[in-house]
Amino acid sequence: MNAKVNIESIKEDLGTQLTAQLDISLDEMSIHGRQISFDNPAKLDLTVINSNDQYIITGKAELLVELPCSRCLEVFSMPLEFDFDFQVDKSVVDNDHIDLSQEILDGIRLHLPMKAACSEDCKGLCPSCGINLNEEECDCIMHKVDPRLAKLSKLLDKKSK
Ligand SMILES: [Zn+2]
Ligand SMILES: [Zn+2]
Repeated sequence: MNAKVNIESIKEDLGTQLTAQLDISLDEMSIHGRQISFDNPAKLDLTVINSNDQYIITGKAELLVELPCSRCLEVFSMPLEFDFDFQVDKSVVDNDHIDLSQEILDGIRLHLPMKAACSEDCKGLCPSCGINLNEEECDCIMHKVDPRLAKLSKLLDKKSK
């Protein structure tokens, strides 16, 4: 990933700031045991302020993540947005660039939900035979609705109306 912002224009003047938009390209990674890829480029919108001993960087990342659904395991795309806010000591900035890579990677790890479904009513996999219930039906007993329970839920439905 190349996520570097050029700070040449503000580095001589304390208190000045710059804004920048960066398109970055993210590699595949594994998070919480899931293989994640990205629809590149991802976008960063950021502000860098030249403060006393530090540069203060704030901004927003917008990405499109491709990851397996936690119910049916099919890969789907999900937008992911998060804000970031960190400081970099001037003593560690060599040449005129601040590298944002590590902060962005940390942000992705932090903000990616532990569970994400391809849709709210994804039926997932049959717990007994393993087929994708969004695509096929099976005759396994485990996920069939008990007819008595179905009646009961109808009754409850009427009551709540
Ligand atoms: Zn799904
Ligand atoms: Zn089944």
